[in-house]
Amino acid sequence: MSEIVIIGGGAAGMMAAARLSVPGSRVHIFERNEKLGKKLFITGKGRCNLTNACDRQELMDAMVTNGKFMFSSLSAFDNIAVIQYFEELGLKLKTERGMRVFPVSDHSSDVIRTLENQLKKKNVCIHLNSRVKTLDIRDKKVCGVVLENGCTVPADYVIVATGGMSYPVTGSSGDGLRFAKEQNIKVTDVMPSLVPMVTKEEYIPAMQGLSLKNVELKLLQKGKTVYKEFGEMLFTHFGVSGPLVLTASARCGKRLSKGEMQAFIDLKPALSLEQLDHRLIREFQENPKKQLATIMGSLLPSKMIDPFLGIVALDSRKMACETSKGERAAIAGLLKAFPFTVTGLRGFEEAIITKGGVSVREIVPKTMACKQVEGLYFVGEVLDLDAVTGGFNLQIAWSTAAAAAADIQEKIQ
Ligand SMILES: Cc1cc2nc3c(=O)[nH]c(=O)nc-3n(C[C@H](O)[C@H](O)[C@H](O)COP(=O)(O)OP(=O)(O)OC[C@H]3O[C@@H](n4cnc5c(N)ncnc54)[C@H](O)[C@@H]3O)c2cc1C
Repeated sequence: MSEIVIIGGGAAGMMAAARLSVPGSRVHIFERNEKLGKKLFITGKGRCNLTNACDRQELMDAMVTNGKFMFSSLSAFDNIAVIQYFEELGLKLKTERGMRVFPVSDHSSDVIRTLENQLKKKNVCIHLNSRVKTLDIRDKKVCGVVLENGCTVPADYVIVATGGMSYPVTGSSGDGLRFAKEQNIKVTDVMPSLVPMVTKEEYIPAMQGLSLKNVELKLLQKGKTVYKEFGEMLFTHFGVSGPLVLTASARCGKRLSKGEMQAFIDLKPALSLEQLDHRLIREFQENPKKQLATIMGSLLPSKMIDPFLGIVALDSRKMACETSKGERAAIAGLLKAFPFTVTGLRGFEEAIITKGGVSVREIVPKTMACKQVEGLYFVGEVLDLDAVTGGFNLQIAWSTAAAAAADIQEKIQ
């Protein structure tokens, strides 16, 4: 009888167990929480964006760190296979804007229930409230795990599916990274990613709660553009958030440790500076007696008017006919490049994912097996892999878990 221990009953751990079914073997999940899939439950704002129905090229492009490493496991169990897998298990899915895939019910709990049903069917032994303290490794071979209560659980194969360090309240507080370090398995530096950004200027928190749609965000460091994207963003009490900002944190968050960034929002990306100036001339000519605050109301959300006019040092009560050509040009310029400074990222508590983790150099890409320790596997967010939003991070969890399960299955049979 082969004993297979999976540490962590999150997305990756459950998928690994669900895809393991070898006669003559027993699969255990040890989960520190009182239930499985605590983080999965809050994904996609409770709706669980479980993958993305894009084509292969887009799938690869969505991978931010070590995309090439994912090639093999994605080829074996890609986004289309994930969709098929869940649908065959009876979970109805739908595809929304940006090819994001969700359960038709809009309930992440249905994704969890689907996997749990599969675990039941396969007689997986689920041990809740059971935190693994350390790995039991002897002579470069895995022998089992040691639980927090001191019990040793023998195992022929161990899959570490403990997640990263983001949203630690869900149970992922970095234990798997510690397990790796204790065995001298290289772990790259970790940092929060897909996370809001902290800004310097006081006028940003003054606009908290305001969300901007169809704008372009540009980030520069030492004069060089490091990020430029079109979409939606949000002002908060500490800085900025929203899809554009989260993606920016994943694409260039690492650079922030080297110094602050200058950010510019193009509030009118559909218009050139010249077109915008013509529009302003028209507005000013048609409404000569209107105050600037009123005129700007047709161009900006109301929460933005005072901070905006403050930056160009214009009195909001000034009338259109009193506004000089230079002042009008300053307004047009600011509409095309509203500035602020990004000083850092928010913490792991607010980060959707962790960037960094067990180095992929330590892992066989086809199987997720650890090169140094026989019988040991790492899957999911504990690995140095991450992607942008859109269902791609769960895809990493599903594909890496399926790769480990397939390898163990092959070895046992
Ligand atoms: C708010 C939020 C929304 C998200 N939305 C999406 C989305 O819509 N789509 C998407 O693709 N991704 C989303 N993600 C990212 C996605 O949830 C993760 O990438 C994914 O859950 C990683 O899966 P995992 O199994 O590797 O880790 P986790 O899901 O974190 O699971 C790890 C499990 O291991 C357990 N564990 C840890 N240490 C131990 C130990 N020592 N002993 C026993 N058990 C242990 C933990 O309790 C946990 O249950 C979101 C993340 C957050 C925080």
